[in-house]
Amino acid sequence: MAKITRRTLLGACSGSLLLSISPTAWARAAAQMVAVRIWPATAYTRMTLESDSALQYKQFTLANPNRLVVDIQGASLNSVLQTLPQKVLPLDPYIASVRVGQFNADTIRVVLDLKTGVNPQVFTLRPVADFKHRLVVDLYPSTSVALAQEQNDPLMALLQDYSRGKVNSDGTTQASAQVQTPPVRTTPPTTTTPTISTPTPTRPNRRPIIVLDPGHGGEDPGAIGPSGLREKDVVLAIARETKKRLDAMGFQTHMTRNEDVFIPLGVRVAKARSLKADVFVSIHADAFTNPSARGTGVYALSPKGATSAAARFLAQTQNDADLIGGVRYSADKNVNNTLFDLTQTATINDSLKLGRGVLTELGKLNKLHKGHVDQANFAVLRAPDIPSILVETAFLSNPTEEKMLASSRFRQQAAGAIASGVQSYLATAVLARR
Ligand SMILES: [Zn+2]
Repeated sequence: MAKITRRTLLGACSGSLLLSISPTAWARAAAQMVAVRIWPATAYTRMTLESDSALQYKQFTLANPNRLVVDIQGASLNSVLQTLPQKVLPLDPYIASVRVGQFNADTIRVVLDLKTGVNPQVFTLRPVADFKHRLVVDLYPSTSVALAQEQNDPLMALLQDYSRGKVNSDGTTQASAQVQTPPVRTTPPTTTTPTISTPTPTRPNRRPIIVLDPGHGGEDPGAIGPSGLREKDVVLAIARETKKRLDAMGFQTHMTRNEDVFIPLGVRVAKARSLKADVFVSIHADAFTNPSARGTGVYALSPKGATSAAARFLAQTQNDADLIGGVRYSADKNVNNTLFDLTQTATINDSLKLGRGVLTELGKLNKLHKGHVDQANFAVLRAPDIPSILVETAFLSNPTEEKMLASSRFRQQAAGAIASGVQSYLATAVLARR
C-alpha cells in the first residue's frame, strides 16, 4: 500500500475513519526532533528546532509577563526536545527560560519566557547541507528597544528590514534602489592617457571607513577543520585583531558582526553601505574536499563569471551561507542593476587594486593559492560602490593549515598583513564623495 501521510488522511478522510487509527499509527507519523539549538546574541536570538520531517506550527505572544508560545502540530515530545530548557544561557538578552510540554495528543507547546518585549519571526527552512527540516524562531528586539540601539548600530534596523524583505542581495534597500543613483566616484577613467591633464580629484578631509566582515556565524559554522576548529570562530578572532591594527593606523573600522550570530549576506553588504564604507573586507578560511589543498587567496567580484574553476566552486559554497544560516526571504529581489553598472566597473578595478595590496602582504606569511587576485560572483562582494574583497586566510581543511589558523601567532600576522594591505591601498586611493 502506498504511504499515507497524516495530512492526506486529515484532508481526505471522514471523522469515523480517523477514529479507527490506533495511537501507535499516530506516533509513527509524528515528526521527530533530531536537534535543538539556541544562539543568543545582542542583534537577535535564534532558536532552531531541527526535525526529520516538516513541522506545522502556530505562534502567539502574551504580555505580563512577556511570553512567546509556539504550538507544533504532529510532533512528539522526545528526549531531544526535552533538552531545550537546558539550552538557555543566562546571558541570553531575550530568553529567560523555555518550557516544553505535550499540549494535547497532537500538539507540543513551547513557551519562551522573555526578558523583554520582542518582535518574533517564526519560519521553516527546507533541508540543506547537513541540516534537516528546521523550524526557526528569531527574536528581534521590539521597536522601542531597536530604535535606541539603531542610533549606535544600523545593523539592528537592517536586520529588521531584511526580515521584512526590504533589503536586496546587493545590499541596497528597496526604496533606495528605485530612486537613488549611487554616490559619484571620483576615480578617473582608466583609459585616460597620461598626456591629457585631468583635474586632480580632491581627497575628502575625513578618516577612511573600513568594514570588516568575519564570515559565517551562529547557525552557520562555515568550514570545520579535521580537529574541529570552526571557521566562524577563527575569522572572528582574525577580524578583531585586524580592527585593532586599523584603528591604531587612524582609520574608522566597523565589523558586520562582533559576536557568534548569523547575519545574512545582503545585510552585511547593506551595513557597509549604510556606514558609507570606503573598503569592505570579508574574512574567511577555505575548505576543499582534498585535504592537501592549501594556500592563501584573495578574491574580488566578477559579476559575469568566475576567472577560475576554483573561484567558481568557492563562490558557490560561500553564497550558500544564506541557505545554511537560514533566511526567511529570498535574497534576490528585482533590482534595476543597470543603474549600478558603470559605478560597479570602477569599483571592481579598485577592488582588484585593494586585493593586490592585501595579497602581497599575505604572500609574506603563507604560500599563495594563486599568484593573482581571483574573481567570482560572491554575494557578499556585490556593493556597487564599495571596493570589496574576500580573503581566504588559509585552508581549514588542511591539517597543517588548521594548526596554523588555530595559533594566535598566525592570526595576528594575518591581521597585520590585511591591515597593511588596506593601508597601502588607501594611501593611493581616491575616496568617493559621500
Ligand atoms: Zn567561509
